[in-house]
Amino acid sequence: MFNFLTQQISGLFATLTGKNKLTNDNIDTVLISIKDSLLQADVPYQVVEQLVEEIRAEVIGKKVLGALNPGEQFIKIFHDRLKEFLGGSASFSSFQIPSVIMVMGLQGSGKTTTVAKLAHYVKALAIKKGKERRILVGSVDFYRPAAINQLEILANQVGIDFYRPQSINPIQAASMICSKWQSGGYDYLFLDTAGRMHIDNEMLQELREIDTNLAPKYKLLILDAMTGQESLKVAEAFEQAVGFNGAILTKMDSDALGGAALAFRYMLKKPIYFTGIGEKIADLEQFYPERIANKLIGMGDLQTLMEKAEEKLKISEQTDTISSFKSGKLSLDDFAKQLDMLGKMGSMSNLMQYMPGFSNAKVTPEMLEKGDLEVKRFKAMIASMTPKERKLPQILDGSRKLRVAKGAGVKVQEVNYLLQKFEQSAQFVKLFKKQGNFKNMFKF
Ligand code: GDP
Ligand code: MG
Repeated sequence: MFNFLTQQISGLFATLTGKNKLTNDNIDTVLISIKDSLLQADVPYQVVEQLVEEIRAEVIGKKVLGALNPGEQFIKIFHDRLKEFLGGSASFSSFQIPSVIMVMGLQGSGKTTTVAKLAHYVKALAIKKGKERRILVGSVDFYRPAAINQLEILANQVGIDFYRPQSINPIQAASMICSKWQSGGYDYLFLDTAGRMHIDNEMLQELREIDTNLAPKYKLLILDAMTGQESLKVAEAFEQAVGFNGAILTKMDSDALGGAALAFRYMLKKPIYFTGIGEKIADLEQFYPERIANKLIGMGDLQTLMEKAEEKLKISEQTDTISSFKSGKLSLDDFAKQLDMLGKMGSMSNLMQYMPGFSNAKVTPEMLEKGDLEVKRFKAMIASMTPKERKLPQILDGSRKLRVAKGAGVKVQEVNYLLQKFEQSAQFVKLFKKQGNFKNMFKF
């Protein structure tokens, strides 16, 4: 998700973290690069202009130029702006009980899949809390023959109830599904609706009528992140015709540039609740502006990583990693432990993006294969260092590096590459600590 932008921006900031001085000149250069990256990532022009001007005004207002650690201050300003831009601290809490949740969107945007993902999400969340939710799903998509069967199959996979009404008139059918929901004592009804290839009035009219009859508590717009700026027009049309509470961006796992998704919240002033990150029912992530901002500037997304870790690792393994992040200091030992932790959690390549300093790594299919190999090499190199070298990597001079390389069976360049990655990671850990991002993060 946002790979292109993350790569551009975090690459830029990796060079900034080390800078002692920022001048008017290099601020301009940095702002121009940011502008280019955002435009290339498909963020609309007017949005880019405004964001960059806001950053410039704040940088100048705060007298960042010539200040202590100006690079870090600049990154913080950019990060905070980006976070605001993406929705500030707003995030989804839960659907009220009871409620009807209607999903809308173009054909192929991911409505049916998302209904199943949402049902799975609320069900799993309830189970975690020792509770149970009674969930019903139904569809009024009579335009594509297989659409309703698809939902039935997915409902079976999730283990929730599916209802097929007798009528094939969408308005009537919606009311029948709703009656079933009411009489069945369900907590939630997720209602799947029909889409078209393009916005058309008949579809919008149909949705308006269903909306009037059912008065769903939540109307969610499903937007395909791959459609780029076109998705903003779609959102505007739905907003005018039917209205909606918030959006879910699907196919964020694709190599879509993601810029339009960034602009969605800014243009529509509506929250993004979730993102779809794959085809499976578990591939849904809650959308947190802060986390996306962290990721974009290369600080990784430790919160999500830790949540994934919580499910898969022993507490002792997590605590080791957390303590290094909390202290703001990172040794090569900690670094090796983190790599180890990632290794235990599954495919390296998928998890790397969450790590500080690594989120700018280009994730190509070849890299996905190489990811695990690289980590093995990193670990071998760290293992052939002395305890002192692991604590104080700066003492690694030419001859020590050669020894380490020989011990690990790699070339000296690879030792340098490891140290470079380590250094980047260490700088972001330091920055992370400074920003006090840990306040609400870990609850052990
Ligand atoms: P609908 O026409 O709006 O109901 O769309 P569907 O739910 O049938 O999805 C259309 C296609 O997109 C299907 O092949 C889904 O598997 C796929 N899809 C949906 N959401 C995602 C996602 O988040 N990531 C990926 N990679 N594919 C998705
Ligand atoms: Mg569908």
